[in-house]
Amino acid sequence: MLAACPKHMEHGPCGGVALDGTCEVAPEPCVFLDRPTVRWDGAPATGDRRPPSSGTVAMRDLLATRQVVVADLAARPLDAASIEESVQVLRGHVDAVLTGDSPRSRVQFPPAYRAMLVQRAGMTTWAGLTSRDRNRVALEAELAALAHVGVAGVHCVTGDHPSTGSRSDATPVFDLDSTRVAALAAVEGHLVSVAEAPASPPVERRAERLLEKQRAGAEFCFVNHAGGVGPVRRFIGEAQDLGVTTGFIPCVPVVIDPQSAELLRSFTSLVLPPGFLDRILGASDPAHEGVAAAVELALGLLALDGVVGVDLSGGSGPGSEVRYCEAFAEIGRALAPALR
Ligand code: SF4
Repeated sequence: MLAACPKHMEHGPCGGVALDGTCEVAPEPCVFLDRPTVRWDGAPATGDRRPPSSGTVAMRDLLATRQVVVADLAARPLDAASIEESVQVLRGHVDAVLTGDSPRSRVQFPPAYRAMLVQRAGMTTWAGLTSRDRNRVALEAELAALAHVGVAGVHCVTGDHPSTGSRSDATPVFDLDSTRVAALAAVEGHLVSVAEAPASPPVERRAERLLEKQRAGAEFCFVNHAGGVGPVRRFIGEAQDLGVTTGFIPCVPVVIDPQSAELLRSFTSLVLPPGFLDRILGASDPAHEGVAAAVELALGLLALDGVVGVDLSGGSGPGSEVRYCEAFAEIGRALAPALR
């Protein structure tokens, strides 16, 4: 039995709870499974906010006009030339790139530096920020730098435990959890998004948890891979019934070859639509089939009430970054006429 949450979470459970209820770190039940949802008791998310950056204003204006397509940034880690190359492929075909890490590539340029590289190459950034490797002082510094860079938004997540990725030798920090990071980011004037994992236990309380993140300052919710249109519709409905007013941006899995399938499988709390990977990997042209499957799923998600955009999600195998971004760009072009 775990004595405490290994990620020091206050507003748990995290999205890494396995489908059988065990912790992402150890084969023991998540400590939050039987506890009531932890309420947000911090400062109200309004008042005393810094003015929004130009990037935030532009993204809010865009979202007031139509749905958006965001794409994970597929680029070689710690490689400015690769980031620029990927941005050039994506530019004009998706609205923003989401910068994060993956279990295979934990070490990345600091969020604000990466955002600066993306924006210098001509695209707007929706910057991922985790507390896994940063205490509150480092988080405050990053949020100030991200505002200075003028990012479109900040995606506030607790982050996977180091033991689940390529740098299990690193000491976990987890000074604040995602709810507290969201509140900090809101005060800094950012457009704040958070993640929620509808398929992770306790499934029946995931919407309640999102409501507390909204109270802390979240405006948008990226919906983790939950198994297709039906589960996402159910989750949004439950959240809206509770009073959640955030915009929803569901993740759309993008797989074009066995390497990108393998990377996607490394995501915690991954649930794909039935037969999704078999359809792609069994096709004579997996890249073509992967684009078609992503477009089909994205169109279904974009039709849902409350959905303000989609996030093309996943990553490439080493050396396939440009080819993978070309798939993102193709999906973005196919979705453009359907954005409302
Ligand atoms: S699953 Fe997540 S929230 Fe639950 S105990 Fe483990 S690390 Fe903590």
